[in-house]
Amino acid sequence: MVSLRSLCLLLFNYSSDKSQGAGRVLSLRRIRHGIYIRKTMQPVIDYLRKNQSRFVQELCAYLRFPSVSAQPQHRKDLKACAEWITEHCRKIGLQARLCATEGNPVVVAKTPSPREKSSKRPHYVVYGHYDVQPPEPLDLWTSPPFEPRIKGRLLFARGSADNKGQHLAHLNAVEAYLKTGTELPCDLTFVIEGEEEVGSKSLAAFLKKNRAELRCDAVVVSDTGMPGPKHPALTYALRGIAAVELTMRGPSRDLHSGIFGGSVENPAMALCQLLAKLRDKNGRITVPGFYDDVVPLSPLSENSSRGSPAVIANIKNFSACQNSLASAASPPPNSARRGPPWRSTDSPAVIRARAARQSSPRGPGPS
Ligand SMILES: [Zn+2]
Repeated sequence: MVSLRSLCLLLFNYSSDKSQGAGRVLSLRRIRHGIYIRKTMQPVIDYLRKNQSRFVQELCAYLRFPSVSAQPQHRKDLKACAEWITEHCRKIGLQARLCATEGNPVVVAKTPSPREKSSKRPHYVVYGHYDVQPPEPLDLWTSPPFEPRIKGRLLFARGSADNKGQHLAHLNAVEAYLKTGTELPCDLTFVIEGEEEVGSKSLAAFLKKNRAELRCDAVVVSDTGMPGPKHPALTYALRGIAAVELTMRGPSRDLHSGIFGGSVENPAMALCQLLAKLRDKNGRITVPGFYDDVVPLSPLSENSSRGSPAVIANIKNFSACQNSLASAASPPPNSARRGPPWRSTDSPAVIRARAARQSSPRGPGPS
């Protein structure tokens, strides 16, 4: 679960810091600023506290939509999910509309009082996505993926942390400002798309078409995380993804391994050998030229990606072994989708927890 109060403070501070000075003046300003925050934000924080259980119920309702963009049978669920979040935005006081695209619709929701040309308030676009990763394999879930389960302060459901939970928390923060009549320090436009998990195919055309309306001082990507409930974070860089599909061809037809095994090159084995050579033992990618146009990490980035105990604890939490930490700061080769079964509708963004292969000394069996 994310801390609503932290998000609220982050949202406020993010826009206020711009106007602050530097050096020693800052400390005095900080004190005044702190008093100002407490005074201005108390009603907002009270509202968040008072409505917390409703927020959780609304999150559960949002999570019940199986909005899996990689599976065509969920097209209607995606539309229903987009309509639900559009209606939610309207209910909390935003001007919201659903924009059709060639694929799944994009939700646009703006804070009231359109930005005037003379206004000095900054304008931020908050990005999020309502589509989710496929939930398979289902047998690894301890409760159904689209029936949210609450255990202590944790909530389990597909999409809860990627990304319905985060952008709904941002919307909760905005709701608290609007419903308590507290002036927002900035104008906000939410852009919530439905194809992030399948490469955001329609987003570029949508952004170009709406360029004037979405002109802004910065984009806040809600599709990130916090190392822990006590470690709020602002993510300032994200890595992208490139996916390839390799097909290795061998004999002209399938052959009996009892007769041909060991004599004829098996494409499955050749493919395994090729994949194994893509990365050295330190996690460096061995493809010639791969790092040619990669900008080296700044000392600050290197520190923040390696140094935070909360981040390291988080990685360890999900790692099968200590060595997984070695390559945490460098881009991995295409290790996603190694696990069976291969599905052409799988998202390339998944690192499966399990990889298996049938094999025999005659040669690896069929894949
Ligand atoms: Zn995401």
